[in-house]
Amino acid sequence: MKISDLGEFGLIRKIKQQSKGRSPSTLIGIGDDAAALSLSSSKILLTTTDMLLEGVHFDLSYTDLYSLGWKSAAVNLSDIAAMGGVPRFCLTALGIPSTISVEQIKEFYKGFNALCRKYHVDLVGGDTCRSEKGLVVSVTALGEVEKKNMLTRAGARMGDLIFVTGTLGDSAAGMEMLRMRNAECGMRNKNSEIRTSNSGLIRKHLRPDPRIESGRKIALSGCATAMIDISDGLSSDLGHICEESRVGAEICADQIPFSKDICKAADHLKTEPLHYALSGGEDYELLFTVSPSKLKRFFSLKILSTQIGEIIAGNTMILINNGKRAVLKPKGFNHFTGQAGQ
Ligand code: ADP
Ligand code: MG
Repeated sequence: MKISDLGEFGLIRKIKQQSKGRSPSTLIGIGDDAAALSLSSSKILLTTTDMLLEGVHFDLSYTDLYSLGWKSAAVNLSDIAAMGGVPRFCLTALGIPSTISVEQIKEFYKGFNALCRKYHVDLVGGDTCRSEKGLVVSVTALGEVEKKNMLTRAGARMGDLIFVTGTLGDSAAGMEMLRMRNAECGMRNKNSEIRTSNSGLIRKHLRPDPRIESGRKIALSGCATAMIDISDGLSSDLGHICEESRVGAEICADQIPFSKDICKAADHLKTEPLHYALSGGEDYELLFTVSPSKLKRFFSLKILSTQIGEIIAGNTMILINNGKRAVLKPKGFNHFTGQAGQ
């Protein structure tokens, strides 16, 4: 069987089935944003790993090494935020091709360490190897959360309201702008162009800021029932919550928050902001559900977020757009099936 027949998530399901059996300390293994391992009756160790591959996740003609380092740390810390946790430590493993210089690796760690410093995370180890082709970056992050505050993908219930932090689609639109800029300006000035760019969309793509503080506030509020970070696009990540929680969802297109930048750029971009929000991915915002009985308390906490829909019975996602209801299929980034993403 070809891996493309299964897709990324089908393959992960197979690996999970094949790797059953675990100790009682493994509270959550394969299947959520991070694994949750019981350390004591009240403390949980969270751990997650994410890989960034040259030619798959990044193109060195679009990104500078500082941004790549920053983003490698950010995407991992985002998974700790999605569980309501506090990131504490990380490890980096690099596969380095002969085309990369010492100065470039130094730039990578300047960016990586800047993001880690911002969230008081220590780099405590890793591994370094030669790569035959392309730069390979693999980061593991460790964090902690109190048992009572942890949020997973599995807790959403019918009637819960669906919220997102920040704005959606910016990163994918930023990627599109980088592609267009590259096509326009040729090879010579590309990197300085990128570095001097002050476009919010490009910045959001190259240097996302994980929602550590919001994730923590949402978890500590005691109002949320499920949470995930939006790494693959709203349709895919809401799909993960629906699948794990065994529910459906209904979202309204006109409630999805868009930035001024994406609205301003809409005319230049090939695709509508809604498409980038649903299928683009890499926003690293948090998608979470709130129990209706806790809504009043949740609003009183003024956690910056936007309500975009509601959890419904069944297993289908519905998008209401211009008054029309249509089934929403997960269309975000999926390695192997070639859908969306970079
Ligand atoms: P995220 O987008 O939040 O990083 P992924 O979709 O990459 O999540 O992964 C979903 C779940 O599957 C996570 O629990 C992750 O640890 C697990 N997973 C992914 N790939 C593998 C693998 N090759 N072996 C074991 N577990 C995996
Ligand atoms: Mg995630």
